[in-house]
Amino acid sequence: MNNFLTFDIEDWYHSNFKGVDLSKIDINKTNFENNVSRLMDVCDKYGVKCTCFVVGSIAEKFPSVIRRIHDRGHEISSHTYSHKLVYSMSRNEFGDDLRKSKDILENIIGEPIFGFRAPSWSVKEENLQWYYETLEEEGFTYSSSVYPAKTFLYGIPGFKTNPHFPEIEGKQTSIIEFPVPVFNVMGKKIGFSGGFYLRALPGFLIEHILSSKNRKGSSTFVYLHPREIDTEQERLKLPIVEKLIMYWGIAGCEKKFSHIVEKFAPSFVRIKDYIKAESD
Ligand SMILES: [Zn+2]
Repeated sequence: MNNFLTFDIEDWYHSNFKGVDLSKIDINKTNFENNVSRLMDVCDKYGVKCTCFVVGSIAEKFPSVIRRIHDRGHEISSHTYSHKLVYSMSRNEFGDDLRKSKDILENIIGEPIFGFRAPSWSVKEENLQWYYETLEEEGFTYSSSVYPAKTFLYGIPGFKTNPHFPEIEGKQTSIIEFPVPVFNVMGKKIGFSGGFYLRALPGFLIEHILSSKNRKGSSTFVYLHPREIDTEQERLKLPIVEKLIMYWGIAGCEKKFSHIVEKFAPSFVRIKDYIKAESD
């Protein structure tokens, strides 16, 4: 059974919460390089190859960091150029942003990239058609952008929960979607394998859900951001709920995360390798 270890490679100020004014903060104060190399060290320690969804503007700022991730054998994919919410852009704006990120990343690593992840799972049912069409036009193969349940921030309820080629208005797309893994609690689907959920839930529970999904034949992915292991980071001024979502559980996160990586190490493959093996 294969799973995927994934990272969204961005910095502490890449938040899509309302009211964050980047012109008023010093984005040069950063532990980005150190955070990324700690995550890559965890991968190396357990012999895991991961998939990194990289924000294009961060790659422009730190090309050598992205090259090092690639040189260590990990997959580079796109997480937009600007980290804007997909549904906040027009189709053309999204296409331009996507192309820009792809060009920058491919220039840095000298190889084509295949995958895309939307910031904050920001695709909606009503823009899925142009979303997948734009990915096709720009030469992408897969997406990891749909949260298949509704939350107050994002999500598409009723979306299939396993990797698949989504059907939009009766037509199957050529893009494989890897939806966010969810589990059922009292009739509700909830995330468990990354970000806030990984920081908030106990490690044994996350490992238990991952194992039981695998036993039932479902591939899952784990996801984390470099800032989620950084207790020393600069902090954004946020309202209380957003603050909890952003910063809860950071102190114990690296240890919990490393344990999960250790336990599931043999199952983790790069997404592009999984797709290649499935299509052969
Ligand atoms: Zn992001």
